[in-house]
Amino acid sequence: MVSAKAPEHVVVVGAGIIGLSTAWYLQEQGVKVTVVDREGVASGSSWGNAGWLTPALTLPLSEPSVLTYGLKAMLDPASPLYIPFSTDPALLKFLLGFARNCTPGKWRAAMAVFAEIGRSGIDAFAEIAAGPHAVAEPTHEATPFLTGFASLKDRDALVKEFHVIRETGGTVDFNLISGEQIRELEPTLGSGVVAGIEIHNQRFIDPPAFMHSLAEAVVARGATLMSSFNVMDVRDTGTGVEVIGSEGRSMTADAVVLATGAWLGSLASKFGVKRVVQAGRGYSFTVVPESMPSHPIYFPAQRVACTPLGDRFRVAGMMEFRDADAPLDPRRIKAIVEAASPMFTGINWEDRSEEWVGSRPCTTDGFPLVGATRSPRVHVAGGHGMWGIALGPLTGKMVAAELTGGTRPATMRHFNPLR
Ligand SMILES: Cc1cc2nc3c(=O)[nH]c(=O)nc-3n(C[C@H](O)[C@H](O)[C@H](O)COP(=O)(O)OP(=O)(O)OC[C@H]3O[C@@H](n4cnc5c(N)ncnc54)[C@H](O)[C@@H]3O)c2cc1C
Repeated sequence: MVSAKAPEHVVVVGAGIIGLSTAWYLQEQGVKVTVVDREGVASGSSWGNAGWLTPALTLPLSEPSVLTYGLKAMLDPASPLYIPFSTDPALLKFLLGFARNCTPGKWRAAMAVFAEIGRSGIDAFAEIAAGPHAVAEPTHEATPFLTGFASLKDRDALVKEFHVIRETGGTVDFNLISGEQIRELEPTLGSGVVAGIEIHNQRFIDPPAFMHSLAEAVVARGATLMSSFNVMDVRDTGTGVEVIGSEGRSMTADAVVLATGAWLGSLASKFGVKRVVQAGRGYSFTVVPESMPSHPIYFPAQRVACTPLGDRFRVAGMMEFRDADAPLDPRRIKAIVEAASPMFTGINWEDRSEEWVGSRPCTTDGFPLVGATRSPRVHVAGGHGMWGIALGPLTGKMVAAELTGGTRPATMRHFNPLR
């Protein structure tokens, strides 16, 4: 009998950064992998995100001022955080649980955990870029990563967060710069930016290019990748698992990893995963500025994230707690344009491409759900909220270690899916 600790064949459900990274690390242990997705590679939030690998900003959302923000947000659909009035019990349960975590004590405790994983998250990107059939698409160093502010008060708020990072065991290397200095580095910034911060030792990726390169690497290393396979149910048969798809399709394996992002709950709850994974929907689009920026740029007060993707510039933002499958709401794109446009010059905001909405898989305590469920053959990997890209390969490494009986990193204790 195949032991649950040493599976020969694992099905990974979900071809986002978490599922594909899990496949990569399982292959390192000699496991045969089949990855299935109801659409295809990067059809969830792993496509249109900002692509930042930024330990300095990999912070929990439960910053206490978010609560005051949230109350205002309920009244203002143009706010960067949008919570529609709703009677959906799952959303209300999530909001209550989230509010309970927005205390200074819990936030600092969460900051300490993120300090532990932020840097090792980047190290794992170096691992998947090495060896035969490695991920060919590079990560880029931000030289430096820029943050821009419309007032010195706005800048002070981020500087305070950086001090908390240091107090809770993390490192952040930054220096303050003036509006003129930031425009010298990035001439596309407009007069709305009066101050900045340079953050060093941060990286970023081009998410669509990176995801396709990761999928190619996993296939070149022997995985079967099946698109249009919509998993309806998963069964533990006692000796293995049965993964049941729509249209009467099914497959068997020794174990399964559910990496279905904001949809995690629907397959995982029957295995004892009771934490709500709520869609925190974000939006993005691309523009082509007259002078193409070369640095990723963040406007924390406006909550707008911008990333150069070679021939185009991605602008992303919004946190909309809403059904993951609801259609794109053009008012949110407009809100991002209104927040971002005063900060730039030389961008035709009407000439937008690749308008996109995707769902950050958010948990109430800000920690992902990674590891075995009540069934030793059914594992979950998801709920990374705002930071699933930065933590993707590290998560894959954790899941593979647990499934194959390897050494689990100590941080994994915070991510128990049955907590
Ligand atoms: C605007 C925005 C900006 C962001 N910026 C950053 C950033 O800069 N850095 C960072 O680290 N993170 C960022 N994130 C967060 C990051 O994108 C997510 O945390 C991450 O992509 C989650 O990856 P995932 O693999 O868990 O989920 P997904 O990428 O959503 O993948 C889940 C996959 O599961 C599939 N699936 C679901 N249900 C089923 C089923 N029943 N059967 C088969 N397949 C199924 C879906 O089709 C999908 O492909 C951002 C997110 C947004 C929205």
